[in-house]
Amino acid sequence: MKMLDTSIKELLAYQNDLDVIYEKDGNVSLEGKIFVNMVYDHFPVQRYYDIKIIVNPESVYLSDVYETGGYIGNYCHKYKDNRLCLATNIDLVISNADNNSLVNFCREYIEQYFFIYEYYTTYGFFPYGDRAHDLEGVKSSYKEITGIKDDLDLARFLLQICRKEYHYRGHLPCPCGSGERTRKCHPKILKLMTDELVYKQICIDFIGMVKEFDEHKRKAK
Ligand SMILES: [Zn+2]
Repeated sequence: MKMLDTSIKELLAYQNDLDVIYEKDGNVSLEGKIFVNMVYDHFPVQRYYDIKIIVNPESVYLSDVYETGGYIGNYCHKYKDNRLCLATNIDLVISNADNNSLVNFCREYIEQYFFIYEYYTTYGFFPYGDRAHDLEGVKSSYKEITGIKDDLDLARFLLQICRKEYHYRGHLPCPCGSGERTRKCHPKILKLMTDELVYKQICIDFIGMVKEFDEHKRKAK
């Protein structure tokens, strides 16, 4: 818990219009405004956004984030329950394993999110390309990391990880099938081996993929 307190303090020092709220259910929330100051492609964003972050103590990158000022209306990267869709969980837990500080989470995902929103509403397209939604988005995260293109091959690979049968060996051929050494071809695969949260997420995503296969089968009958 001490680490989390430090992480919260750091965030409050970095974004000083946020307040800490201790919820009745034991959750800690951060509510108030964050300031976004970013430029990309000669497009500047400098403004405040009203937000609420319900901190996930296990993995701060999996915290629930809401825009509370009613500024973001209908937008494709918002969930039905109004949480902001910041990235896929696997991308979030991998980042969390790299550096689980709230300041980094805020910089890498929340500020980016608002910047991308502004860019998109101005130009009608996304500055660094868009990610698909739901399971398609999840699969595209894994495909980017592993280089595996086929859904079934990807599911097989994730199953190997879930069964702890895959061991990263940089000098062995890459799972993407290129024939190159993994460390030269898709070294990011090592990130799938980082910690227990990443492992858990891979198992959850694998089950999601299997469910989809089953549904396809049922529909095909
Ligand atoms: Zn590869």
